Amino acid sequence: MVMPWIACQAQMLAGSAVPISYPGTIELDVDARDTRHRIMTVHETLPLPAVDGDFVLLFPKWIPGDHAPSGPIDRLAGLVLRVDAVRLDWQRDPADPFAFHVRLPPGARQLDVDLSFLAPIGDVRDGAVMTRDIIAVKWLYLLLYPAGYPVAGIRVHAQVRLPGDFRWTTSLTPDPGAAADRPTFAPVSLSTLSDSPLYAGAFVTQVDLDAVAGRVRLTLLADHPERATITNEQLAWHRALVREAVALFGYRPFPHYDFFVTLSAPFGINGLEHRESSEVFLDPDAFADWQSKWDSRYLVAHELVHAWNGKWRVPDGLDARDFNTDLRTDLLWVYEGQTQYWAKVLTARSGLWTAQQARDDLAVIAAHYSHYPAARWRALADSMHDPVVNARGSDEWRSWQRSEDYYDEGVLLWLDVDTLLRSHSHGKVTLDDAARAFFAGGADSAAMKPYGRSDVVDSLSRLDAFDWEEFFAERIDKIDRWDPLEGIRRGGYDLVFDDRPAPLCTAEYARRGLYCFSSSIGLTVAAEGTIESVDWEGPAFRAGLAPGMKLIAVDGQSFSPERLLASIIVASKSPRPIAITAQDLTQVEEFSLPYHDGPRYAHLVRNGQTPASLDAILRPRAPVRGGNGGDR
Ligand SMILES: [Zn+2]
Repeated sequence: MVMPWIACQAQMLAGSAVPISYPGTIELDVDARDTRHRIMTVHETLPLPAVDGDFVLLFPKWIPGDHAPSGPIDRLAGLVLRVDAVRLDWQRDPADPFAFHVRLPPGARQLDVDLSFLAPIGDVRDGAVMTRDIIAVKWLYLLLYPAGYPVAGIRVHAQVRLPGDFRWTTSLTPDPGAAADRPTFAPVSLSTLSDSPLYAGAFVTQVDLDAVAGRVRLTLLADHPERATITNEQLAWHRALVREAVALFGYRPFPHYDFFVTLSAPFGINGLEHRESSEVFLDPDAFADWQSKWDSRYLVAHELVHAWNGKWRVPDGLDARDFNTDLRTDLLWVYEGQTQYWAKVLTARSGLWTAQQARDDLAVIAAHYSHYPAARWRALADSMHDPVVNARGSDEWRSWQRSEDYYDEGVLLWLDVDTLLRSHSHGKVTLDDAARAFFAGGADSAAMKPYGRSDVVDSLSRLDAFDWEEFFAERIDKIDRWDPLEGIRRGGYDLVFDDRPAPLCTAEYARRGLYCFSSSIGLTVAAEGTIESVDWEGPAFRAGLAPGMKLIAVDGQSFSPERLLASIIVASKSPRPIAITAQDLTQVEEFSLPYHDGPRYAHLVRNGQTPASLDAILRPRAPVRGGNGGDR
């Protein structure tokens, strides 16, 4: 969609397929030193085209990688516009709060913009931009840009002021000779700038992940110095990750690449992809407590894979010319789904996970989708709308709602494709071959190549004459027509449930303090008793329990997770139901849970004697030269 006034400002673009450049270079000066108030102050200077009257500035609305209109416009404050030191009135567009109108005086040559960005403050558990020790300069949060021009045609010269004792890093090219605490950068297009965040911190460790110094760097930023350390073994596994990714795709789609990894609770656990860098937010102890904090480690691989899948090859509809045109998200099963598949595979191939950990992760995903009432009313295709429909909001009834299933159901979907390719060709053709062909040709990191669904189908058909169109239609577009465990079985494994605790549940507990009873009584619960999730139509659901209720007692004794587990074991040998006392907002109630199948946790076990293609998929393929993690 294009707003009428954008079309008006961009009338010079009409009928032209050639991108029009914005005249001159925008100067952007960010002061990020105020870590106490968590406020960044911005001065921006825009040279003006020969426009009389109404001029429209935009605050970025669709943040690339979020797949949603998530631009944090609520955090924009202190907006002042001036021409020749004279302050101008501005009005927000009546139909679009991300657009600002200003009437320029005749002959105006330059517009000065002042604004501040109010970073999240207080007890933030996710989405921090600034703490006392870490600063993330996300340029898209810190500017207004002129409407009507493709962002690839707007040039910006950026500089940032940082606390004097902070170390900073970015994939932008710094101007030589600038002060260490006030770096300036060679002018780049707004699309490149938006894709090139800067991270700065008080406790920073930076290591090389490639044999060529500076080509691929890993930067750890933490709130405490002891958390920002990496062992030789951890370093070797991360180097192997880069080697395995390059072995998979056959080349690097960037001249250099930076991982910015925060180890800080306010930043949460998540990631954001860019072409020459990625932001990866991990548990504060992800490196310090390597053994138990393993479950989110695949995020490093996920964001790296996006350099090929998402940043070089871009789905039709996600290749917008600016940040305020509505995006289309119907190919996220490739953009995110195949990325998630490769993330898990590469995490295993590199040694960051053992093959057993990769299978434990897969078992929990498989268990989730093996009984999935949401698939009865909502096709996977419809969950591509979740970044907008739900925006990572409520998912208390996830097994009835769906929640961005293109990620994890995407893993099962692409495992299905991979094992099918291998089975049809007796192991000669794999999804590695398909990926290498589909994502080829992106050595120029300024370029991107859009694709549609038919391109994905055609690329597979070239390797394997099979009805891939129908294959994807069954799994993506139709309701409840797919057995999501097909790929696991074809890969040589079965999903089983037994009373051995699932390692991913243990990791989940270590990270979030959650106890996992989803495959038995159908709920997860925090140590102090609050129910986090209840499986739709599971035993706890049928007994009347709901997320948010607090368990007080089990079989007449005060609640503890151990007490609940003991009662589940007792009930497996007795006809008596489990008696639960739980508190809702206003009342305490008794619940009777007639569950007698004992503790159940998901595992994958081998289902035959023939070689398992899942084992082959997870096996490393990149040669190790000299055993030191080096690479040419
Ligand atoms: Zn992603």
